[in-house]
Amino acid sequence: MRRAAAVVDLAAIRANLARITALAGNATVMAVVKADAYGHGMGPVARTARRSGIEWLGVALPSEALALRAQGDEGRVLAWLWAPGDPDIPACVRSDVDLSVSTEWALAEVVAAARRVGRSARIHIKVDTGLSRNGATAEQLPGLLVAVLDALSEGVVQVEGMWSHLADGDTPDAASVSEQLARFQSVLDEADALGIRPRLRHLSNSGGLWAHPECRFDLVRTGIAMYGLSPAPGLGTSAELGLTPAMTLVARLAHLKGVAAGASVSYGGTWTATNETALGLVPLGYADGIPRSAGNRGEVAVGGQRRPIVGRVAMDQFVIDLGARELPHVGDDVYVFGPGRHGEWTPDEWADTLDTIGYEIVTRIGPRVAREYVEGQP
Ligand SMILES: *Cc1c(COP(=O)(O)O)cnc(C)c1O
Repeated sequence: MRRAAAVVDLAAIRANLARITALAGNATVMAVVKADAYGHGMGPVARTARRSGIEWLGVALPSEALALRAQGDEGRVLAWLWAPGDPDIPACVRSDVDLSVSTEWALAEVVAAARRVGRSARIHIKVDTGLSRNGATAEQLPGLLVAVLDALSEGVVQVEGMWSHLADGDTPDAASVSEQLARFQSVLDEADALGIRPRLRHLSNSGGLWAHPECRFDLVRTGIAMYGLSPAPGLGTSAELGLTPAMTLVARLAHLKGVAAGASVSYGGTWTATNETALGLVPLGYADGIPRSAGNRGEVAVGGQRRPIVGRVAMDQFVIDLGARELPHVGDDVYVFGPGRHGEWTPDEWADTLDTIGYEIVTRIGPRVAREYVEGQP
């Protein structure tokens, strides 16, 4: 048995996708599997999504799209972020990966790849409607559209999509959302006037799916909800949204010791036992993705009881205070986070305590932690 594992419940992912698909109504669902499926493992998650009937997968990087192809995935995939000179663009065009273009240089690279490979590339034109991140601005868009028209007449691209991303998608009543929506609509009109009519218009992520039905258009790009986490605490907990966290991070108690009052724990001695107590050693650390800021703040569950993390989290290990009675045994399971069935915090509860978001809690779990796959939790 291993020291620790991230146990991923594929049945939970399927149920979450069913919930998302029902909510999306007529919009197609894109399952976002970037960043190793938010730490859950891209291969098994992508296969689970395809078997659930998901037509589109979304990734950030061209290399991630090619990793899907290398695993045998043959369905529709969109990749949306790269820097000039990315060596994977020709292979993406050859293997039928849709590519997002925000700029004239990106379009030029896709066009060059299409010529080289000898097939037309499918593109999604990305516009900045107010997030000020990726996407063509109002100033940049006319030049980009002219270049797209040239590429269309050469027959080297097809415009499959036109899209943008929301800044406050997860916030009901956010004024920015109606502004972005209006801007998106006017950009679609601008393209339409030039004869550019994308089959898929898309604007929404998981948060937008719940908070802004008016932003669903033809497709919704959902990541975090598929993994069972709430897009934002303000929208409700996973349970309130009908979602189940899919990942359980569990480790095995590696050492138990009794200490006297006054014993200080871990680097810098930031925690000192006030009474005689028992300490447990958990063989996971910040190199595995346990936030260092969890020292003296986080809690894990052992034998159904919450136990505090005491002292600093180290690279490979941290210490918990077990108190003086009802001690667990070496080798017992320590639940760091999960859906809560063993008394553990959910990733969202961790995020709330550590002032971050559930996305960061699950994506940072590192490659040293083995992924194991189960169908449903006991
Ligand atoms: C990561 C990402 C998504 C998925 O967002 P969630 O909030 O996880 O649903 C959607 N669109 C873009 C552009 C992204 O980068």
